[in-house]
Amino acid sequence: MLEIIMLPILEDNYCYILKSPDGPCAVLDPGDEKPVINLLENAGWQPDYILITHHHWDHVNGIKGIKDKYGAQVYVPEGDAKKIKIYDHTLKDGDIFELGSETAKIIATPGHTMGEICFYFEGSKAIFTGDTLFAMGCGRLFEGSYEDMFISMQKLKELPDETKIYCGHEYTLSNARFCNDYAPDNAHIEKRLKDVIGLRQEDKPTIPTTIDLEKKTNLFLMAETEDEFAKIRKAKNSF
Ligand code: ZN
Ligand code: FE
Repeated sequence: MLEIIMLPILEDNYCYILKSPDGPCAVLDPGDEKPVINLLENAGWQPDYILITHHHWDHVNGIKGIKDKYGAQVYVPEGDAKKIKIYDHTLKDGDIFELGSETAKIIATPGHTMGEICFYFEGSKAIFTGDTLFAMGCGRLFEGSYEDMFISMQKLKELPDETKIYCGHEYTLSNARFCNDYAPDNAHIEKRLKDVIGLRQEDKPTIPTTIDLEKKTNLFLMAETEDEFAKIRKAKNSF
């Protein structure tokens, strides 16, 4: 099983350090270099790889500093590669990335950006969703259409219920408030809002979440048609 360390960086981003039991180590979405290098030095770890979900600055700004220091190989989504500039390899839908004995299947999830990908480590029952799927939310549609993101949601919905979701931001409290406002009669959402308020009052992360929990409380993932999804996405934009 993959060892996963969550590192809160910038205002509300999560960067992740992934360590395979047989040694290899990767940094996923380093939006900043300093806190990542500090953590790696304290742990005595050397990253072999840098993995990127999409091209936004808060996910890529640490690439250069970490690559310069450790010589890590950088893997980026093919569709966002031109905008990322510093990289060694590109990944597309269906590709397999090997982190030692652990393998990740690449799932293309366009919508937030057109190139965005998720890293699904099936053996470890974990997926890194960047800014596509958040706890009780989904990313803003900066580049893709409602149809693109709706299809991306359907792909993620098919994953096993116990899959743990590691997303790119701690947005859960505002997402939970939105979901509760939009669907005030949903008892699962109401309970989760209370749980999330409790966690955030103690400054604890609400991540990881699971596919099972999202299927019960994430209106964006629960939407059954593209029209329903679009209506919810539009409502969230002005919430
Ligand atoms: Zn983003
Ligand atoms: Fe982001």
